[in-house]
Amino acid sequence: PYDVLVVGGGPAGAAAAIYAARKGIRTGLLAERFGGQVMDTVGIENFISVPYTEGPKLAASLEQHVKEYGVDIISAQRAAGIQQSMDDTAQHNLLEVPLASGATLKSRAVILATGARWRELNVPGETEYRNKGVAYCPHCDGPFFKGKRVAVVGGGNSGIEAAIDLAGLVEHVTVLEFADTLRADEVLQRKARSTPNIDIISNAQTTEVVGDGQKVSGMHYIDRISGEQRHLDVAGIFVQIGLVPNTEFLQGSAVELTRHGEVIIDAKGATSLPGVFAAGDATTVPYKQIVIAMGAGATAALSAFDHLIRS
Ligand code: FAD
Repeated sequence: PYDVLVVGGGPAGAAAAIYAARKGIRTGLLAERFGGQVMDTVGIENFISVPYTEGPKLAASLEQHVKEYGVDIISAQRAAGIQQSMDDTAQHNLLEVPLASGATLKSRAVILATGARWRELNVPGETEYRNKGVAYCPHCDGPFFKGKRVAVVGGGNSGIEAAIDLAGLVEHVTVLEFADTLRADEVLQRKARSTPNIDIISNAQTTEVVGDGQKVSGMHYIDRISGEQRHLDVAGIFVQIGLVPNTEFLQGSAVELTRHGEVIIDAKGATSLPGVFAAGDATTVPYKQIVIAMGAGATAALSAFDHLIRS
């Protein structure tokens, strides 16, 4: 068995594996796709100490750094669950991670770092213009739209927070909400309504992202009351309709999740199952960012090491 098995090969998983391996303990890293969301990112300007990099380049550096240590990398494999070992003739306190392929990995401690994915609009043009005007992270991509007109799709807390945040950078923000009312907290709604360069349109169903082949030039939506098709000229579209943690495989396990599917962790990265730690976008950590995920991965690995020397 491993001493520490990291599930996930994004920034959180890579940081956890490096911190664990540097303790000289047997470390495994299981990843469906090394690099995680970073592989889907073009420009990164907020990875501190690196003024500009690109996703695939950062992902390659993560992998190279992990490979400098004796980490056993198991890639293109998916975890299908987690449980305490039933085999009490062997060492006790072992955890088992069954894989979708049918195999099972065993470890004394496990770090869950399976990340998350943005919920997509699923309309024509969205995929084609991803990273060419269609964006999902205002903290990451907001500054690219300085002085331009943008739309935010989604009127929940994240959408309204994004609109308020963007309003300070861009020329104008239009928020499109599908329902007849916004779901965001009243205080955020009040702030958005009192911001002069934010317009809010309810009952708006986004139907298409349009562009010139290179970048976004606007979007179509249907006014759900009149049934009419409308058009907005925008350079950017921020999709804020939810971040879904990749934790479906933990449903029914002893690892406690929130109702949104986030792994519940404490300040040390510990989950409800002893010996199991978690880090990054899959967890209840506030703010989902590369530097935050890396810090959380380091925390989880140090906590896992602490757990091992005490058990
Ligand atoms: P992820 O990066 O999501 O990695 C998850 C890992 O787990 C992957 O290796 C995946 O294959 C693996 N995995 C998932 N399920 C399983 C399973 N069942 N079994 C095995 N492996 C599994 N942040 C910034 O700080 N700056 C930016 O500029 C920025 N831009 C972004 C742009 C885009 C388009 C997107 C989508 C995100 C952006 N982010 C940015 C956010 C940032 O990418 C994430 O916060 C960060 O990648 C989270 O790291 P993570 O390791 O927690 O998860």
